[in-house]
Amino acid sequence: MGTAVVLGAGFAGLLAARVLAAYAERVVLLEQDDPHAGSRRGVGQYNQVHTLLPGGRGLIERWFPGFTQEAVELGAPMLHSSQIGAYFNGVRTVSAPTTDLLCASRPFLERHLRDRVAQLSAIRIVTGRAEGLEFTDGAVAGVRYRAEGRSHFLASDLVIDAMGRASRLSDWLDDAGWPRPPLRRVTTGINYATGYFRATSIPDDLLAAIAHFGPDHSDGSTTSAAVNMIEDRQWMVVLAGLGQHRPGRDLDDFVARCRNDLPPIFRTAVGGEPVGDILRYHQADSRSRDFTAIASPARVLSVGDAVASVNPVYAQGISSAALHAACLADYLADRPDLTEPFDRFFRRQRLVVDAVWQVATATDSARAGHRRPMAERIRTWILNQTFAAAATNAQVAESLNLVTSLFAHPDTLRRPALLARTLRTNHRGRGSGRIEIPDAQAL
Ligand SMILES: Cc1cc2nc3c(=O)[nH]c(=O)nc-3n(C[C@H](O)[C@H](O)[C@H](O)COP(=O)(O)OP(=O)(O)OC[C@H]3O[C@@H](n4cnc5c(N)ncnc54)[C@H](O)[C@@H]3O)c2cc1C
Repeated sequence: MGTAVVLGAGFAGLLAARVLAAYAERVVLLEQDDPHAGSRRGVGQYNQVHTLLPGGRGLIERWFPGFTQEAVELGAPMLHSSQIGAYFNGVRTVSAPTTDLLCASRPFLERHLRDRVAQLSAIRIVTGRAEGLEFTDGAVAGVRYRAEGRSHFLASDLVIDAMGRASRLSDWLDDAGWPRPPLRRVTTGINYATGYFRATSIPDDLLAAIAHFGPDHSDGSTTSAAVNMIEDRQWMVVLAGLGQHRPGRDLDDFVARCRNDLPPIFRTAVGGEPVGDILRYHQADSRSRDFTAIASPARVLSVGDAVASVNPVYAQGISSAALHAACLADYLADRPDLTEPFDRFFRRQRLVVDAVWQVATATDSARAGHRRPMAERIRTWILNQTFAAAATNAQVAESLNLVTSLFAHPDTLRRPALLARTLRTNHRGRGSGRIEIPDAQAL
């Protein structure tokens, strides 16, 4: 290609630009926000807790060798699984042995990635706001954008929409007479409150933890919580509640919850001086747009949250954006005819979207009482059985970990030998109180 344009320089846009740099003479990465500003107008969740799953980190490392080591040298802790605690209803569950985590804030990770992207000679990062597309002969011909108070037009061979959850691509397609991709939604109603604290000392056991509570073990105000040691010797702590339960921005209340309701590492984390305010975020729903269901123009495709933005509790967003970029790499490696619609790419990407969706929406769609086909209910039941068994069985925990780290498809949890082990574990553990085991009526 001559020129490829990527709209949006979040994780999805940065990684797509990296892939395109191998196929295009010029890649223009258009981003509305000033990359040097401390906050980002275009990304409401910018300062919320972000965990980079091992699956996504593996792909980033493939495209940017040395990324992890450089992040560590810049101050991000690389945690071994023994330094990460998982709790259910306050009880420690077994850790999957391969859960190594690079722990850093989102601004740190994004800055580091952008610096690596900016070093690629084919890529130019432009500050400007995309305002629409031009179409000719059933294909996108270029992008209209606004920068430095003026309107511009950039002709392109390929446009990638990486504008995140609020992407306007569907409106632009509609305006030009193309169908909108159908939007599917599942209510999440999740509320985050994130706080940063200076570490007074570095514990020699746990440096990160995640805690979940079942409906009978909390007043609903904190359904999950996570804490990570990150760069600059800071703790990043998030409390999450559902529906009307919104962890507040009051510092004293935040600290009291961490001290009184959560495992000891949370108490340690909030013992230091707070850095900035408690920041809140509300997400109404998981949503995904199905480009396989429509006839779309050639020379345009979407990646990242612009296609699917899901309940953040499972921390899949950055890593699924990386998988979308991997789908793009696979697709372009086949030297496709860019004047034809990208159906094959969208089908490939759909596999990733559906896998992530399965995990992210399993509990939410059951809670919301959505009517679901039997096959989906069975998948959800197996997933919930696996979560329960993983609390006490290391082999099940490892298999689940491969799925939740985005190395393996959730269907791998249905393999007969594994499923038998899962059900046996739950049968033995029933009534132990360590975990809530969903019964067959949940189907
Ligand atoms: C509360 C919360 C917590 C999360 N925690 C995690 C986590 O722990 N782990 C994880 O992997 N994921 C997490 N995610 C998801 C993660 O933020 C995203 O999935 C991931 O960053 C990929 O996003 P993206 O690049 O597609 O979109 P975004 O990050 O939203 O980036 C879109 C970019 O497009 C730009 N843009 C938009 N419109 C225009 C325009 N018209 N012109 C130019 N630029 C434009 C925006 O400014 C922005 O930079 C979380 C999400 C939320 C809401």
